[in-house]
Amino acid sequence: MTDTPPPPWHALPAAAALARAESGVRGLAAEEAAARLARHGPNLLPAPPRPGLAARFARQFQDLLIRLLLAAAALTAFLGEWADTVVILVVVVANATIGLLQEGRAERALEAIGTLLAPRAAVLRDGVRENLPAEALVPGDVVLLEAGDRVPADLRLVEAASLRIEEAALTGESVPAEKDAAPVAAAAPLADRRGMAFLGTLVVAGQARGLVVATGAATEIGRLGAMLAGLEAAETPLLRQMKRLARQLTVLVLGVATVVFAVAVLVHGMKVADAVLVVVSLAVSAIPEGLPAVLSVTLALGVRRMAARHAIIRRLPAVETLGAVGVICTDKTGTLTRNEMAVRSVAWPGGAARVAGDGYAPFGAIEGDDVPERLAAIAALCNDAALREGPEGWTVAGDPMEGALLAFAARAGIEADALAVAHPRLAALPFDATTRLMATLHGREGGVLLAVKGAPEAVLPRCAGIDAAEWLARAEAMAARGERVLALALREDDAAPATLAPPEGLALLGLVGLADPPRPEARAAVAECRAAGIRVVMITGDHAATGAAIAAELGIAAAPRAMTGQALAALPAEGWPAAVRDTDVFARVSPEQKLLLVEALQRDGTVVAMTGDGVNDAPALKRADIGIAMGRRGTEAAKQAAQMVLADDDFASIAAAVREGRTVYDNLRKVIVWNLPTDGGEALVIAGAVLFGLMLPMTPLQVLWINTITATALGMALAFEPTERGVMAEPPRDPRRPLLTGFLLWRFLLVSALVAAAAFGVFGLVLARGGTEEVARTAVVNTIVALEIAYLFAVRRGRGGLLAGGAPTPALWLGLGVTVAGQAALTYAPPLQAVFGTAGLGLAEWGAVAAAAVALLLVLEAERMGRARIR
Ligand code: ATP
Repeated sequence: MTDTPPPPWHALPAAAALARAESGVRGLAAEEAAARLARHGPNLLPAPPRPGLAARFARQFQDLLIRLLLAAAALTAFLGEWADTVVILVVVVANATIGLLQEGRAERALEAIGTLLAPRAAVLRDGVRENLPAEALVPGDVVLLEAGDRVPADLRLVEAASLRIEEAALTGESVPAEKDAAPVAAAAPLADRRGMAFLGTLVVAGQARGLVVATGAATEIGRLGAMLAGLEAAETPLLRQMKRLARQLTVLVLGVATVVFAVAVLVHGMKVADAVLVVVSLAVSAIPEGLPAVLSVTLALGVRRMAARHAIIRRLPAVETLGAVGVICTDKTGTLTRNEMAVRSVAWPGGAARVAGDGYAPFGAIEGDDVPERLAAIAALCNDAALREGPEGWTVAGDPMEGALLAFAARAGIEADALAVAHPRLAALPFDATTRLMATLHGREGGVLLAVKGAPEAVLPRCAGIDAAEWLARAEAMAARGERVLALALREDDAAPATLAPPEGLALLGLVGLADPPRPEARAAVAECRAAGIRVVMITGDHAATGAAIAAELGIAAAPRAMTGQALAALPAEGWPAAVRDTDVFARVSPEQKLLLVEALQRDGTVVAMTGDGVNDAPALKRADIGIAMGRRGTEAAKQAAQMVLADDDFASIAAAVREGRTVYDNLRKVIVWNLPTDGGEALVIAGAVLFGLMLPMTPLQVLWINTITATALGMALAFEPTERGVMAEPPRDPRRPLLTGFLLWRFLLVSALVAAAAFGVFGLVLARGGTEEVARTAVVNTIVALEIAYLFAVRRGRGGLLAGGAPTPALWLGLGVTVAGQAALTYAPPLQAVFGTAGLGLAEWGAVAAAAVALLLVLEAERMGRARIR
């Protein structure tokens, strides 16, 4: 026997592939699948190698500031100032460790989110369709694909209908490839393997069945070592702005430091070693080195808080953008409403009835005329759903609306099983959002029967022998009650027609009105959005009157203005701005129109959030500032295009995410507003003293202490601040407003000056009262830390002022505890006294420290009252 390698999967006919995989059209048996799972492992791509602890620690030393400190340590060692060397090295290690911890915290928070987006797949096991986590797939499984799915493993297609797959994830080619089940030449390159579907690619059209031939690392994408898009940690605009600012500040500070160095040595005759230490401490205090890391943590915490409210962020910048959202365009069914349908009213030529009862139970009262049997029968025949009785009562498998129709038919006395036997389905024209109708062909004695249901505008014009205008008016009246209206019709033929589309010459059987109650929490969420200056716009496939009625019920507007897609299409370009500004409900719009709506709203300068679930929604989701995909109803295609995925499909979760988004932005701003002026104040003290040839109110080592220990412990606490009251009572932030507002500059100057004034004041006071230099410096260090704490409390409650402040968060307590303990040790512990040149303080000195802090609070409180709101 020769050892010719087996032909590759793409070169095998489908049947041969199934045989080789020891599988069949019914898929694998459960035990076999379990055995293969044990053999092949889960269908997961290996995580990218994570740099080890040492490597990540070493990375911290790439920081310019840390290198500066290391140079200073070397210099002091060279000069024999061993105590200084040791302190600087401790500072370096502390800094690197804190950086490492913060990085790790941010990463862990984001990683946890990635797992929430784990894909699922429709698999045949023992011939039964199951929805399993894609992770559970094994070679030999038979997978069902439809438009919008992401291919869950490498598949050899067994059956394909109009299948098109976008393989950009693998080949970079964004034009979808046509696929079918035929084998191709063994040597065909990846892009030409029509009979294969690869893990991570997207089904944009059609349906298929595929045999799993490779999972996890063995797949094509796995072999490339590529990762599937989970959370994309792109930098946010604010973080980018901040990093740029930090770099500019670094350059500026190094310039100032050089001048200070020259003045100290040349003008005041300071020893070079001393001057170096002064300059290094100046740089350490003035460069906001920890800021980007604290900001990352703030963002990561925001992502985690949003996930807890069922809003899963896929792209990090969304966290920031959410806070600036001005319009939320939302689907109706399932997002604003519960997607629990029930038939409420029925009308037919010659009669009408009301249907009572909730849920999908096949029994309940019908009041009014007797529902014609044919009407109820068509409701059950032109239907893909099934009702099941389980421990949670009656539930629907399939579309809830069709489930409601089945329940209604049963209440009207139809035996669905017997009906299906008497009228077996021969063919079907599936529901399509453009034609808005569905038709099924059934056998009957002596011929066939075409059952049609769909939107009244789509079905009524196809019916013969009725006054279409009159029936449209009746449909409109039902819709105005908030009901979704369907027209049911029938045609009896002697033989099966060549094609079902378009069904013409129908006999109208009647209209059915279905209620879908609003989600109770949606009303409150809409009110919250409106109070926050955010418009809520409903975009629905339903009738305009239905949409408007539900919009009114939800409080989207007192008298909602509705517009149809048809009217939009007829609108001249100059009519769009007014239309998007004034309309509350867009009804019967196409996915292409959704995209145009997003663009029109954006031209108006608004930050737009848009929800979507279908494959066709992807362009609009991508274009929106915040594309929101539905986690349950949504296709994988929509999720991949979106920035955020709603785990529970609930509108209230969007409002919660916006609230969190505003909180995050608030906290980011607070971190910056606190950090920059406190750094500036310390730097001003050092630079001022050197330039004017005064005695230094703090030694360089003391400055290093303040920056490493207290500034980090305190600054971090702001990342954990809860939502301030009033956050959702303000209009959305103008997205074009820069971070560095005039306010920040003013605050920077004010607080820096106050800190410097307090430091020099306390220093002079203690010396004047006969205190030693050590005592005076210790008092200054404690003053600066006390001012930082006081300023933190002022920043914390930007809106309400100090007295409105809630209790400190655990993070703040921790920060305060560490800081107070650290200061006590610095002031009173003999070893620290020896190293840092500090001395114990008396009551008078503590009094001066406290007075300075209280004075700062009073000045800031006066400043706050002077302006309506701190920006
Ligand atoms: P929303 O925007 O409120 O979520 P939707 O986009 O889900 O609504 P579609 O599913 O596009 O709305 O439905 C639009 C219209 O098409 C419905 O109002 C109904 O008249 C009709 N329709 C919906 N589903 C079916 C179906 N399975 N068979 C026949 N007609 C249907």
